Amino acid sequence: MYDVAIIGAGICGASVAYYLSQKKLKICVIEKETDVSMGTTKANSAIIHAGYDPKPGTIMARLNVRGSAMIKELAPKLSVPYKQIGSLVLAFDERDLDTINLLYNRGIQNGVVGMKILSSRETLEIEPNIRTDVKGSLWAPSAAIISPWELCIAMCEVAAENGCDFLLENEVTKIKSEPSFFEITTTERKLQAKYIVNAAGIYSDRICSMAGSCDFSILPSKGQYYLLDKNQGDIVRHILFQCPTELGKGVLVSPTTAGNLIIGPNAESNNHPEDLSTTRYGLDYVAVTAAKTTDKINLRENVRSFSGLRANSNRDDFIIEPALFSQRFINVAGIKSPGLSSAPAIAEVALDLLEKGGLAMPQKEDYKNSRKHIVFNELTDEQKNKLIKENPSFGNIICRCNTVTEGEILQALHSPLPPKTIDGVKRRAGTGMGRCQGGFCSPRVHEIISRELNIPFEKVEQDRKGSYIVSEKF
Ligand SMILES: Cc1cc2nc3c(=O)[nH]c(=O)nc-3n(C[C@H](O)[C@H](O)[C@H](O)COP(=O)(O)OP(=O)(O)OC[C@H]3O[C@@H](n4cnc5c(N)ncnc54)[C@H](O)[C@@H]3O)c2cc1C
Repeated sequence: MYDVAIIGAGICGASVAYYLSQKKLKICVIEKETDVSMGTTKANSAIIHAGYDPKPGTIMARLNVRGSAMIKELAPKLSVPYKQIGSLVLAFDERDLDTINLLYNRGIQNGVVGMKILSSRETLEIEPNIRTDVKGSLWAPSAAIISPWELCIAMCEVAAENGCDFLLENEVTKIKSEPSFFEITTTERKLQAKYIVNAAGIYSDRICSMAGSCDFSILPSKGQYYLLDKNQGDIVRHILFQCPTELGKGVLVSPTTAGNLIIGPNAESNNHPEDLSTTRYGLDYVAVTAAKTTDKINLRENVRSFSGLRANSNRDDFIIEPALFSQRFINVAGIKSPGLSSAPAIAEVALDLLEKGGLAMPQKEDYKNSRKHIVFNELTDEQKNKLIKENPSFGNIICRCNTVTEGEILQALHSPLPPKTIDGVKRRAGTGMGRCQGGFCSPRVHEIISRELNIPFEKVEQDRKGSYIVSEKF
């Protein structure tokens, strides 16, 4: 019997697992996909928002500011790529100037520090490639960029090291509510847990309804993106937003932690929860809107387009509360943007609710809360030479676009939560993230996975269950 079962291994489930695994509890994370961070957490804008956007008084406003401060401390501790480059909301007319003043005032009420309204000249001084008719901007120095899936993976790895079980490829299909525990049926097994944290993203309403009555619904909204080559990565220096609309924060233009340029997203409401397609119409909207920020973007340098699904709810705020039917079932639902920025603070609230629901959670005497992770490309020549001497696999370059070594792939494959797919290695080591998008390195990664994990060559998957690459090896 588990003390707590966390359903969903996105950033919310990962954050809850990270903190709960430091307590004397038997816990598990149940995830339907082949890896952690396979839902919305891997497909978003990757921004740690400063916190001026949510309406004051909302749960989102409170947790955004706290969460982004927590992530600033967590990222170096967990060796996760994070850069505090600051954000600008650009104003191009009088109405936009009113909007940035409104956002400034909201930010003050929400406790955002360091914001400033910049003039046109000041804006162009720090961001010379944007449209020159910019009238001013809202500068928020605390905003940052991050690798969202690496944050999620790092938190899960630490939780796994602390003894949390990860039940991957286990889709929850049924939950029976007993007087003092829940019986959870997945596609692979039955298990029991005294408490449940429902962090199932766009499926959180379905999970809640499996156990009892549910008083919210999730209405997925798709956002599409272009990811451009690194030669476009320094067109802008900061995270650039246009003024937000009813539909969301609008199309941003921003560098990524890997040095690429990301532009997007659009917003398409009432989307099917499995529809992650990109469309000509959606991407054209992104391109045309981003060009209103800067006309310097060369879309021929696009290396990938992708989309993510916002877990919008009928309540328009985060839902972090016990279910109607039990204090032992905590919903972490409706976690749309700024959910990534808020995740550690969301976990704090969830832990507090578990405790209020009667769960004793004494701290373990001995636990991990940090992680070491080697990124070969970031080392000095002296450090590289020393590492190769100690472990020659770091001298074998597998991904030529991003200079990723065999040593880094082995580090991922022998981590506390090893991936078994080519994209799982990609999210941990950065292989296949460069200009060729895996064209050269994927076959070699394929071989290494097969060799190291002892998986027959033809059984290695690209990403999701059943995504085999070869049918036979001759
Ligand atoms: C277009 C877009 C842009 C965004 N940009 C930002 C941003 O820049 N900054 C920011 O702070 N936030 C942003 N967000 C929001 C942020 O990405 C989300 O709030 C966050 O990733 C939600 O995490 P989660 O853990 O709740 O959900 P998810 O990451 O979706 O995780 C839920 C998990 O539950 C699993 N699951 C579902 N059903 C079952 C089942 N039956 N059994 C087992 N497992 C199940 C899923 O497979 C999934 O892995 C953006 C979102 C979108 C869509």
